[in-house]
Formats: sequence, C-alpha cells, structure tokens
Amino acid sequence: MSGEEHAIELLLRSPRFDIEEIMELFDVGDREFRELARANPKIARLLEERRLGTLKPLAVQPHKCGVCGEWFLPYGADKQCSDPCKRTAQADRLVRAQERKRTIHASAQRLT
Ligand SMILES: [Zn+2]
Repeated sequence: MSGEEHAIELLLRSPRFDIEEIMELFDVGDREFRELARANPKIARLLEERRLGTLKPLAVQPHKCGVCGEWFLPYGADKQCSDPCKRTAQADRLVRAQERKRTIHASAQRLT
C-alpha cells in the first residue's frame, strides 16, 4: 500500500473530511478513487461505513506532519508524525532561533 493510500484511508476514517475534500487534497479523480476502493478493501469498507453512517468517530483528528507532509493520527499534542520528523523540527527550531539571535545581534551592532 502506498503512503498516499494510507493517508487517504486515514482521512476517510475522519468524518471531518468530505470525500470531495480528500480527493482534492490528494488530487485523485472520481475514476481513480473508485479503482482505489476496488483494489483496497479497507478503503471500500470505509466508504461503505460512510454511506451507511456507521463510521466510528476518531478520538483524534488526522494531522498533516509539518516536516514530511504525511498524514498521521497525533498522540497528544504531536505536530510531527515520527521521531525523525520530530528531530528535524527541533533542529529547524534551533536554526531559526540562532538566526533570530544573529539578526538581533546584527541590528544591535548597526545601532552602535
Ligand atoms: Zn513526518
């Protein structure tokens, strides 16, 4: 199963997303979507549950990872999908903080 299929499955589990929205998000057309449902029993079942209105609401809403763009179900206040992504985000924050410090320092020097 491709990462995209996994993400579509995840979003289908959330009643918050319309099928149209999901198709738009992943740039999937009607025909492609039907083929996906034929090939993937999980997606087919989720579509059936949506049709019947028996979809169980998720305790948490799918979230898009700010680092790699993968959809995932966050645990607590997680903003990234995995430990490597968390580390990347942490490193990014550090770099940004250092850049900020440098900018402040540079403008302070210009003032003197
Ligand atoms: Zn990620």
